[in-house]
Amino acid sequence: MSLINPIFFLQKAREKGVAIAAFNVHNLETIQAVAEGAAEERAPVIIQTTPGTLKHAGIPYIAACVKEAAKIYDIPIALHVDHCPSYKTIVQCIQHGYTSVMIDGSQLPYGENVELVRKVVETAHYCGVAVEGELGRIGGVEDDVFVDERDAAFTVPSEAKEFVEAAGIDFLAIAIGTAHGMYKGEPKLDFQRLSSIKEVVDVPLVLHGASGVPEASIREAIRRGICKINIATELKIPMADAIKECFKNNPDENDPRNYMGNAKQAVKKAVREKIRMCMSNGFADELKRL
Ligand SMILES: [Zn+2]
Repeated sequence: MSLINPIFFLQKAREKGVAIAAFNVHNLETIQAVAEGAAEERAPVIIQTTPGTLKHAGIPYIAACVKEAAKIYDIPIALHVDHCPSYKTIVQCIQHGYTSVMIDGSQLPYGENVELVRKVVETAHYCGVAVEGELGRIGGVEDDVFVDERDAAFTVPSEAKEFVEAAGIDFLAIAIGTAHGMYKGEPKLDFQRLSSIKEVVDVPLVLHGASGVPEASIREAIRRGICKINIATELKIPMADAIKECFKNNPDENDPRNYMGNAKQAVKKAVREKIRMCMSNGFADELKRL
């Protein structure tokens, strides 16, 4: 298959009450681990990269690898840029075949944020590409952006409705108590707020900062309308642990096929678990019948 615009499967996921897992990748091995894991679970999947990863690996390399993965596996795969503040980077991603983009104007005043998002929506829709927006501020660290807990702000339902309509986005990331990175204590999600947003907002809703949120809370969030779940830290940790383990057992190891091979298997295992947590295993085959 070719890479696809994720709107179709996100809307179907919302109708069915499941979520699509969106995994942040950083290199060839993580792309392979996500694609293989999703294919084994027969799940549609979103592969995503932050601007920091684009700087590290290069847009053409990432786009080429993910396009090849989509050709190999018979599951719907979308390629998405996560938390991108730059219109220019978004255009470059679209030129290289990204099928979905997130414009993050959360540091701008409301009016300028809407204006920037509208501009991205106009360009992206012209190219058949989906757009994710965010309202409210999700705390924690993502790339080199750090949002202090005190500056994190929950999404207000009436503002979310106004933002979606004014900006014309296809799906909306909301802040209901999750944070980027790992948690110190157990995060408490504001489910009532989520339900209130779902009542007034018509587009699929996205949960960022899901790493470390207990499975029961994730399931409840899905039940109340979340249909894209972003997972980054919970792939980074098993990857680093597998590499550390490899060098602990064999300090003289110097073959990247060995230590990166171990890392790939660990990431793939986590990918499969997260897809089952989202309940989208088997959903790729169901979509074919819809
Ligand atoms: Zn995020």
